[in-house]
Amino acid sequence: MSRWTIKDSERIYNFYNWGDDYFSINKKGNICVHPSPHSKYGIDLKELVDDLVIRRKLSPPLLLRFMNVLEGRISSISRAFKWAIEENEYTGGYQTFFPIKVNQQRQVLEAIAAFGKKYNIGLEAGSKPELIAAISIATEHNLPIICNGYKDDGFIETILQAQKVGYDITIVVEKLFELEKIITLSRRLDVAPQLGIRVRLSSKGIGKWSTSGGEDAKFGLRISELLSALNLLKQHNLFENLRLVHFHIGSQITKMDKIKNALIEGARIYAELKKMGADIRYMDIGGGLGVDYDGSKSSNYSSVNYTIDEYANDVVYQIRSVCDEAGVPCPNIISESGRAVAAHYSVLITNLLHTHAEAPSPDFEAALSRPDELSPTVRKLLDIYNSIDRHSLREDYHDTVQLIQEAVSLFKLGFLTLQDRAIAEWLYAKIIARMNEIVERLKTIPEEMQNFQLSLRRTCFANFSMFQSIPDSWAIDQMFPIVPIQRLQQQPEILASIADITCDSDGEITNFVGEHGPTRCLPLHRIEPDEDYYIGFFLIGAYQEILGDMHNLFGDTNAVHITFNRKTNYKIDAIVEGDTVSSILKYVQHNGNEILKNVHNKLEKQVSLRRISIEERSRFLSLLEQTLRGYTYLTG
Ligand SMILES: *Cc1c(COP(=O)(O)O)cnc(C)c1O
Repeated sequence: MSRWTIKDSERIYNFYNWGDDYFSINKKGNICVHPSPHSKYGIDLKELVDDLVIRRKLSPPLLLRFMNVLEGRISSISRAFKWAIEENEYTGGYQTFFPIKVNQQRQVLEAIAAFGKKYNIGLEAGSKPELIAAISIATEHNLPIICNGYKDDGFIETILQAQKVGYDITIVVEKLFELEKIITLSRRLDVAPQLGIRVRLSSKGIGKWSTSGGEDAKFGLRISELLSALNLLKQHNLFENLRLVHFHIGSQITKMDKIKNALIEGARIYAELKKMGADIRYMDIGGGLGVDYDGSKSSNYSSVNYTIDEYANDVVYQIRSVCDEAGVPCPNIISESGRAVAAHYSVLITNLLHTHAEAPSPDFEAALSRPDELSPTVRKLLDIYNSIDRHSLREDYHDTVQLIQEAVSLFKLGFLTLQDRAIAEWLYAKIIARMNEIVERLKTIPEEMQNFQLSLRRTCFANFSMFQSIPDSWAIDQMFPIVPIQRLQQQPEILASIADITCDSDGEITNFVGEHGPTRCLPLHRIEPDEDYYIGFFLIGAYQEILGDMHNLFGDTNAVHITFNRKTNYKIDAIVEGDTVSSILKYVQHNGNEILKNVHNKLEKQVSLRRISIEERSRFLSLLEQTLRGYTYLTG
């Protein structure tokens, strides 16, 4: 067999098909992150993590936020639209509005605002807190804001007053009753609002969020309601204030033709409104631009069958076609791409626990030399073990599975000793391992033997909570690429599933990005005794950080903000320490100081009754204090 190289690792993790060239594997076999696709500058993730863990004393899990990648993504999208506009001789412009709900972190918004200035970026807010965050960022960077979402009087008044004092802010009507409130309030406050209307298209998206579009969608005005809205606006002399028409048919739209249908319908609505004399200048096509998480470039739910360039080109082309046909001027295009902007920028790195290091198995060889004393079931397993070859593989496999089940049944009935059951398990593992050696040498693996790989799969424990760090993996089976960040020049020996450290059996990942699409085993290396072996979870920057929850009271992970730096390779801009045990307890109304005080009282009583020593009291109290101050994850 030829020697394993990083090319082989690239192949088995489908490495260059997801990640849009922000990641590579270097000669040392470590993963690198790049500020822009194919950039010759790169940060070696393993070296970065060693720096953070060994020299800066941070504990994994570590959420690494690469701010430059945000710029790279914004620039890719803006450039794609710029080309598409030139290519199609489109007369309108293009702007991205970042939907805050995708990632509300202040530093993320600040980075987007700072980088995005030259791309004319804006912010989209969907709730009162998001609006305040948007105002905060816009105050410094002077960005335009679009407000979607359901609104009450307070929300509407804040928007209108903000506009009055100089913010560029557009209020999008989601419901007819909102419009009535907007009319009343804008008159009372004497503000001329910049209005947008969200329309409910009959075109639907596809995938998990397809219900954001279609007749029965939760959001937007039906066509009949749209006409009532226009009448209302005319009655109150606000028809000229309608500037924007908006739709959003869902996130992660996997198929381009679904987007096309929505664009044609949306553009038709724009054209009709234009013909009715509305002064609409913007068509806001919402989000939906997807990310190819599994690298299959297909319409799988974790993939997309189009590129950013194709998306931009289709958007521009379809809108232009409809406008030309209708004889109306082309609108400025706005897209609210969140996932596509944010997904790539963050990577979660954590260590695997040393649990699967082989426990030295008791030596059963001696027992095997006296086969007559073994139970017949175990003897049959031994026969298989001694006679396996390529030709009887399938049959042997089925027999083995059946025999091991038989061994368990016999044990339960009291016909098999503990010793025999242990030997059966031990033989089973040896048979499977030998079969795997044979299977690996086969050119094509028979279909049913692919399932056989599953019997080789071990559960590896990673120091993280799936519910906190990649909640969509649990909630909607979203795939995220998971790859070891080191030793990629070496052949992995283990097939694994990844279990987290919550006490929830759901906290296990059994679906991975593989060479030929989704696979149920993740190839990993055998961990050396003193090794810190790290795996990375990639493309997790969109939605995961905020959707994450505190299941089992595992809190926020440590987060590190990193920018590329030509001189020193990277610069640590900020370290945001994760939740401590006491801060996470506070969420559920437990007060660390009170706990300490109560325990203290109890121990003093024990001391006075001479049940414990003063030293025992002090040791326990300081341990408790230390735990309260410490990280919620495993630290050694
Ligand atoms: C969620 C949302 C978005 C973001 O969608 P992505 O698919 O992440 O780009 C944009 N606009 C609206 C109105 C949304 O609700």
